[in-house]
Amino acid sequence: CGIVGYIGQEDTKDILLNGLEKLEYRGYDSAGIATLNQDGVNVTKVKGRIAALRDAVDENVKATLGIGHTRWATHGVPSEENAHPHQSASGRFTLVHNGVIENYVDVRDEYLSDVEFKSETDTEIIVQLIEVLNNDMNDVAAAFRKAVQLLKGSYAIALIDREDEDTIYVAKNKSPLLVGLGDDFNVVASDSMAALHVTDQFLELMDKETVIVRRDGVEIQDVDGTEVTREPFTAELDS
Ligand code: GLU
Repeated sequence: CGIVGYIGQEDTKDILLNGLEKLEYRGYDSAGIATLNQDGVNVTKVKGRIAALRDAVDENVKATLGIGHTRWATHGVPSEENAHPHQSASGRFTLVHNGVIENYVDVRDEYLSDVEFKSETDTEIIVQLIEVLNNDMNDVAAAFRKAVQLLKGSYAIALIDREDEDTIYVAKNKSPLLVGLGDDFNVVASDSMAALHVTDQFLELMDKETVIVRRDGVEIQDVDGTEVTREPFTAELDS
């Protein structure tokens, strides 16, 4: 299972699909991507192989921001509905997740009793929670940070907001996730392998930090929202 994300100048579909192919070795049962442009979010997901996802993706939709996922089902059968990305009730937020949310029942009961769920996954509670928190807070970065604090378990997550074509939000806890740095683009990946075709400069992330990834830069925040500075490392092809 794995995650990729891209925000830059180029059309993102091939970058995401090529990245997901590089993560195939980790195992998966389904896959999907979401891209965002001025017309909104476009989600494509399939049960099965990346090759099938490639066939299903609409070549006519161009976007310079997107997230992709390969799923190894833990909660809910392998199916198109349970495949990621998952979306919030209003469709504003779209998210991919690797890992297991241990307290998803508690979070659902406490914060999401009014929400109608579209999948059987533990993942969907994350994106629904972010929307509910943001409805209150009206600050997506703060809602994302709060959600990360409420979640227990293992996760690598990447989130996009339909109302913001300039940002991918990411976080991790006990699951791998790296941010790859480019000149006028940035990427997100479970593994540097998935992004070595576009950069060899990566930022390591600490558990429960949140990262705001934009075309022209990356901001890491600790759980309190304080900015953290970190030097990138150089990844090598054979490492
Ligand atoms: N627990 C999530 C699910 O079953 C994510 C699984 C994964 O790591 O791919 O959908």
